[in-house]
Amino acid sequence: MEGEGEGAAIGIDLGTTYSCVAVWLSQHDRVEIITNDQGNRTTPSYVAFTDTERLIGEAAANQAPMNPINTVFDVKRLIGRRFDDVFVQNDIELWPFKVIAGTGNKPMIIVEYKGEEKQFAAEEISSMVLSKMREIAEEYLGHKVKKAVVTVPAYFNDAQRQSTKDAGLIAGLNVMRIINEPTAAAIAYDLEKNAGSAVENNVLIFDLGGGTFDISVLAIKEGKLEVKAIAGDTHLGGEDFDNRLVNHLIREFKRKHKKDISGSPRAIRRLRTSCERAKRTLSSMAQTTIGIDCLYEGVDFYSILTRARFEELNTDLFTKCLDLVENCLKDAKMDKNSIHDVVLVGGSTRIPKVQRLLQDFFNGKELCKSINPDEAVAYGAAVQAAKLSGMGNKKVKDMVIVDVTPLSLGVETRGEHMTIVIPRNTSIPTKMDENFHTGEDNQRSMDILVYQGERTRSKDNNLLGRFKFFGIPPAPKGEPVSICFEIDVNGILTVSAVHKMTGKKSEITISTDGHSLSQQEIERMLQDAEKYKSEDQQFKQKVQARNALEDYAYDMRKSINSGKIGSKLSTVDKMRIEDAIKQKNEWLDDNQLADADELLHEKKELEIICDAIISNIRLE
Ligand code: AMP
Repeated sequence: MEGEGEGAAIGIDLGTTYSCVAVWLSQHDRVEIITNDQGNRTTPSYVAFTDTERLIGEAAANQAPMNPINTVFDVKRLIGRRFDDVFVQNDIELWPFKVIAGTGNKPMIIVEYKGEEKQFAAEEISSMVLSKMREIAEEYLGHKVKKAVVTVPAYFNDAQRQSTKDAGLIAGLNVMRIINEPTAAAIAYDLEKNAGSAVENNVLIFDLGGGTFDISVLAIKEGKLEVKAIAGDTHLGGEDFDNRLVNHLIREFKRKHKKDISGSPRAIRRLRTSCERAKRTLSSMAQTTIGIDCLYEGVDFYSILTRARFEELNTDLFTKCLDLVENCLKDAKMDKNSIHDVVLVGGSTRIPKVQRLLQDFFNGKELCKSINPDEAVAYGAAVQAAKLSGMGNKKVKDMVIVDVTPLSLGVETRGEHMTIVIPRNTSIPTKMDENFHTGEDNQRSMDILVYQGERTRSKDNNLLGRFKFFGIPPAPKGEPVSICFEIDVNGILTVSAVHKMTGKKSEITISTDGHSLSQQEIERMLQDAEKYKSEDQQFKQKVQARNALEDYAYDMRKSINSGKIGSKLSTVDKMRIEDAIKQKNEWLDDNQLADADELLHEKKELEIICDAIISNIRLE
């Protein structure tokens, strides 16, 4: 397929439940959303491990009910978080796969692969999904892809961004930029709907996906997209609505059948799949039925779900979305009447109640549904990727995007106080300094604890990292040290401290207090990723070789029993071929683990026997 040649950079929307990949095609002057091997435009963010192979995407999601404990999903809810995070603890309760605390309190996913227990960090599983998305693009473009723009929820903190970038590295991708999902959607909106309008438009992007919720208010004019404020929740989305249904039906099963299914990963997996399907149906119908044969201990389960019940079970979550919209407008210092367009992004914005609440909030304003909610983010990422690689048309090249930092950043000062250096919603990239003073006479060093969040007590915020600054000469208390916070275009922070009089300086790129990956760990994971990739390749070749032998034997048996060849063969020759086929079929049964070379060798042997017999009849 035509593309941009080896230099093509892709855009990847790495979603909680589904991922999407897109590329800018210069020849057609547009973005192409790339379909996967099943012809779908989005791919489940699932990775599964079996006795024989590793599966990613559709294949992994399809076998989930049979292999729930080794099928990993939702890792976006784990990435950059600590094991003891309350959200992680709550999610673990509902996941069929096992998660334990690793070193530095890092959550580690446990699965059984080829009969052995394996541990994976969330970054590694995400890297597998990213590799799959890259392969989908490579298949379409017909060449290798090395560069990508990857999106994250606007409300992701520094640790979550850094970990997503690491996942890209492990996938062997040069992550040119991490961009915010609603900003990417705004790029798609501007190119598709706004067409670089010369009038300033205030746009609110309402992005409710599978696992996260983001709102972004932007002022857009002549291709300049300026984010005014963002708000959101990195743990609110379609999965939560599914969970409410799952819990409701667990209770119903208990009531009706006096049995608790919550301890059975297989039953929960099947129930969850049905609930997600029912939720989608309820977006277009008022009522639907859940029907699962033999759900638990031989008991069939049937239940009727109404849209009203679904809405009631999720009322508080829907209301929370609206509260966050209000906060975001407040931060942007805008009145709801000054918003020109409200753009819906993310699969969960198809829920009628969500649309109704939002429309009522904006006094009946028509919501913009004309950009595809599942694809807008990948679309915008592909535009950004084209722009960063010097491709794209004039509109793309001239586009200016100014994003903001989602959460305030600061340091701990006396009395566990959070002193803010960069307030939230500051445009990025940015650099800000603040002077801090020693608290004691002759203090030679200063502990610098960097936090992210909005709470006044430092401990209530997210500790990003710490370092000790040793450059202070002996002096009475009150000696100033300048601390500089710098956020790059990816939203990633570097903090440095300097004693201005002596010029002594020390600096750290925030490495999130031990739970983000070290360079060595990334390198080890990169090697593992190569190993898994080559194992996948070997497995694929093995399956192809086995199929080739089986197909050859099948076709040969068919042709000796019918048609031209069949009619010319003697009974003895037919029996010789039948015998050879039987032997090979028995060999296949006895050698399930045979590798591709052995299988190809067996096929060759069978071909030689059959060809010799058949060529004889042709000579007669
Ligand atoms: P995204 O992360 O944008 O791909 O959104 C995925 C989420 O959207 C999943 O939780 C889906 O269950 C949900 N979703 C997709 N289609 C619908 C629909 N028609 N009604 C309700 N939720 C939907």
